[in-house]
Amino acid sequence: MKKLDGKIAVVTGASKGIGAEIAKHLAAEGAAVVVNYASSKEGADLVVDEIASAGGKAIAIQANMSKKAEIQRLFTQMQEVFGRLDILVNNAGIYENLPLEDITEEHFHKQFDLNVLGLILTLQEGVKHFGSAGGSIINISSIVSTLAPANSSVYSATKAAVDAVTKSLAKELGPRRIRINSVNPGMVETEGTHAAGIAQSDFQKQTEAHTPLGRTGQPQDIAPAVVFLASSDSAWITNHLREATGLTSATRTALSVSGVQLQT
Ligand code: NAP
Repeated sequence: MKKLDGKIAVVTGASKGIGAEIAKHLAAEGAAVVVNYASSKEGADLVVDEIASAGGKAIAIQANMSKKAEIQRLFTQMQEVFGRLDILVNNAGIYENLPLEDITEEHFHKQFDLNVLGLILTLQEGVKHFGSAGGSIINISSIVSTLAPANSSVYSATKAAVDAVTKSLAKELGPRRIRINSVNPGMVETEGTHAAGIAQSDFQKQTEAHTPLGRTGQPQDIAPAVVFLASSDSAWITNHLREATGLTSATRTALSVSGVQLQT
């Protein structure tokens, strides 16, 4: 018997990076998974194929998770295929760094519309599909929600908002037996950090030098924490912000004080 046998999961932004690995880990534990993507159909299909080859069950559904109508369509399609929802992973998110003087309305809305508004609309729609047995929601936040590096005021603010949403909704959804937690990763090597020029940069080396575990995270470091929060192993855990950073609290403080910029 696997930990998530018979469970239905939606993972937003699962065509690559952390989301793809979460989808694969949930499926490996027995969940049937909706692999959401915005533009990378090829990436999403690859994740679905990998899950199927390993004996799991998954479908890909395209939807821009910052748009209410597309979010509603995703859950309608999910309901038609799987009939209900047990696990919702809000992973879709974007990150951009700019100093104060360069911040534009576009920079603000691009990040807030997906990372915060989209997450809230997804939660609003998603919870309609949980049954009377409840379920588990995991929001992928970031260490920046509390570390708040320089040049990251807007992105850090989106993730601080995600943490606040997690805490508030834990109180609202608890009576419905729906648990909600955040995973707050440090720097993780993904397609996104490569595209942003963060991965393999001097900055990455600098960050690793301050990390007791001596390396950048990989998506495989994050996915098991999500499986734990999705499963009954965490049946009495809600409203929890779980760091996955490789940092001790002392190093964390040193990083904030010394102004090292953790960019994701
Ligand atoms: P990534 O490699 O850039 O992948 C992003 C994923 O999100 C892709 O599957 C992408 O789909 C999807 N996406 C983007 N815009 C979307 C939209 N409007 N609607 C639906 N899906 C959308 O990102 P990542 O590095 O894995 O980051 C994933 C999450 O972890 C984000 O929330 C990020 O803030 C958080 N995080 C990352 C790090 C890090 O160091 N990497 C650290 C802490 C937290 P398409 O390819 O189809 O567009």
